[in-house]
Amino acid sequence: MCYYDNYQYACRDWKWGNFRMHCQKEYRTGETCGMKMIFQTVPLNEKCTQCEKIEKKKRRRQKALDDIARWERDGGKLQASIEKARDDVRALEAEITAMIAEKDRRYATIGNTRRAA
Ligand SMILES: [Zn+2]
Repeated sequence: MCYYDNYQYACRDWKWGNFRMHCQKEYRTGETCGMKMIFQTVPLNEKCTQCEKIEKKKRRRQKALDDIARWERDGGKLQASIEKARDDVRALEAEITAMIAEKDRRYATIGNTRRAA
């Protein structure tokens, strides 16, 4: 096992940082082994890229939903726009779901590495 920095994002996701220290076992060889251990956790103020992308899509979805609500209050005269916005919301929802699943899968994999260490 070798020691690395661990960056923790505001969204609680994290990534490995710089290599810090060899473990006892690998010290003599000067190599790093495959096992990663946390040397220190460094908190970051921002969210990870993936969460930022998801948030951006959620904001677009919210904007489309707001537009639909407003247009419907106006008596639904902008039917074509409402339909298009509904399509956008459906597409965005599918994308958001896929991105969250992708992120969970990624962190589940890293999580296994960490537990194994
Ligand atoms: Zn995140």
